[in-house]
Amino acid sequence: MNLDELTDGLPKTELVYLREMNRTQLGATTIRVIPEKRTHAYLMLDKTIFHPKGGGQPSDRGVIRSPKFELTLKKAIFHDGIVIHWGKIVSGTISQEPVACELDWPYRYLLMRRHTAAHLLDHCLAAATSERVQTTDSWLDEPCYVGYRGKAPNPQTLKQAEELANTMISNGAVVRIDFLTPEQSKALLQTAPNFERLPNLQEIRTVTIEGCTPIPCGGTHVPDIAEIKQLKIVQAEQMPDETYRIHFSV
Ligand SMILES: [Zn+2]
Repeated sequence: MNLDELTDGLPKTELVYLREMNRTQLGATTIRVIPEKRTHAYLMLDKTIFHPKGGGQPSDRGVIRSPKFELTLKKAIFHDGIVIHWGKIVSGTISQEPVACELDWPYRYLLMRRHTAAHLLDHCLAAATSERVQTTDSWLDEPCYVGYRGKAPNPQTLKQAEELANTMISNGAVVRIDFLTPEQSKALLQTAPNFERLPNLQEIRTVTIEGCTPIPCGGTHVPDIAEIKQLKIVQAEQMPDETYRIHFSV
């Protein structure tokens, strides 16, 4: 399906998950429905709690229902400011009407713990190597990793980073979300691990673990790093292109 055709002429979706990360239910207005065969459909809503795939974070899962149908969300896709919900129709006939959205919270909560752990890992790797780290990519489903530029640190350094992370987790620290103008963010974010990868936006959302460098990020996070409970570095994988991946679990 052509994403441009799906979203053509539609207003931007209100991204409720950016501000209310613990929200699991939401009533929304359907602004376009496009069935695919008889079994699947694309749904565009005025607002959403479903985080689309992006920034290393996999698409949320969940259910969208009305009195007339129920759809299992398979994928939320971000395109031109619009979230496209694609799913399987499990009952009824799909039509354009008000819907209730329900998030698969256990899966999302795991992603939130992993995502916050990934930011903590940036901080602890920088501290253990005494160098600024530069992220290249990340993936928070399976395999769960963060990619960095350069040569993988030695096992002793990784152990140090892991120990520091777990000390910080047991002490706890608030995770703050701010919305900044481009001017405000420029000065603040020069040392962020993903500074080079930032898009040009009207509003920059930053995620700050108390005591760490603010990181521009559109992902969902736990409100306190204590909720990560424990971070384990599984392995460092040297990649052929002068980058390495730190595989981790929470
Ligand atoms: Zn992030």
